Amino acid sequence: MKAVQFSDHGDRDVIEYGDYEDVEPGRDEVRVEMRAGALNHLDIWTRRGLPGINLEMPHIPGSDGAGVVESTGNGVSRFEPGDRVAVSAGVSCGECEFCRDGDLTLCVNYHIIGEHVRGVHSEYAVVPAENLVAVPEHVDWETAAAAPLVFQTAWRMLIDRGELEAGESVLVLGASGGVGHAAVQIADYAGAEVYATASSDEKLEYAREIGADHVINYEEENFAAEIRERTGNRGVDMVVDHVGATTWQNSLKSLAKGGRVVTCGATTGPTPETNINRIFWNQLQVIGSTMATPGQVDDVLELVWDGTFEPRIREVFPMSETADAHRLLEEREGFGKVVVIPDERYDG
Ligand SMILES: [Zn+2]
Repeated sequence: MKAVQFSDHGDRDVIEYGDYEDVEPGRDEVRVEMRAGALNHLDIWTRRGLPGINLEMPHIPGSDGAGVVESTGNGVSRFEPGDRVAVSAGVSCGECEFCRDGDLTLCVNYHIIGEHVRGVHSEYAVVPAENLVAVPEHVDWETAAAAPLVFQTAWRMLIDRGELEAGESVLVLGASGGVGHAAVQIADYAGAEVYATASSDEKLEYAREIGADHVINYEEENFAAEIRERTGNRGVDMVVDHVGATTWQNSLKSLAKGGRVVTCGATTGPTPETNINRIFWNQLQVIGSTMATPGQVDDVLELVWDGTFEPRIREVFPMSETADAHRLLEEREGFGKVVVIPDERYDG
């Protein structure tokens, strides 16, 4: 089969598209004929190489994807050949204290398809049946591939970990990116007053279209100062920060007394300075979140499948042009998700 792959970490030129050894499904696994995959910032980190993660090379990247079940292992009863499925990338052991307690994302052996183990940006992918969700007939492949990772991440972060309630105010940073555009839609759905930042007027217009009530161009304004001004110096109840080092201090400055910042990533770096005085004096909460439980994935994807939430498709590439897809993400061009299609199925 053909697969996106790399044998060394490095710049975009390490990415190739070519032959890869075919794999048959194990007992609890499913072999899926992939129709589309979607990229996440995770793919950039994985390509560059993450400390502590030693990948089996060549590595197939890709945490998001969707396709048709081709065959199943003997232990699989939930799916059969012909079923339409999407991949939900979080893998848990099912045996540790945290898994037995019911929150699979806290698994001590938690890992992510595409990041720690072989991903799904290939003609065929073998994944555990537990990592598949059914996709209704009316949902197109690009939507099915683009939704799972960012929508489950944003859903757990805002609704479960952040306990966002109607009437609260939320600031979503980087509203045009994958997680950001999911967070704006979810915050709006939850009945919150939504502030959103982006780097251009076009992106801000888009943020408004998907549910932002107030927008701030962070290239032109200091967003913390803007939030203070626009809220009568109160601040917002929640800040959604997946940006990291460059925004962290202003995120804390944007919070109202007793507010909370929720974080699921640090695209610009993980080690900003933090003023602890601000945290205790204003009684702030710093809340981490990653991925989502299968139940939370079902909840949010139901709302994608019925059209309540819409993953915006930024651009679609054949898998052989995955390096160009990485460039769009690295240069923050456009909004929403970048999709890749196996070359044999790509029709321009
Ligand atoms: Zn576990």
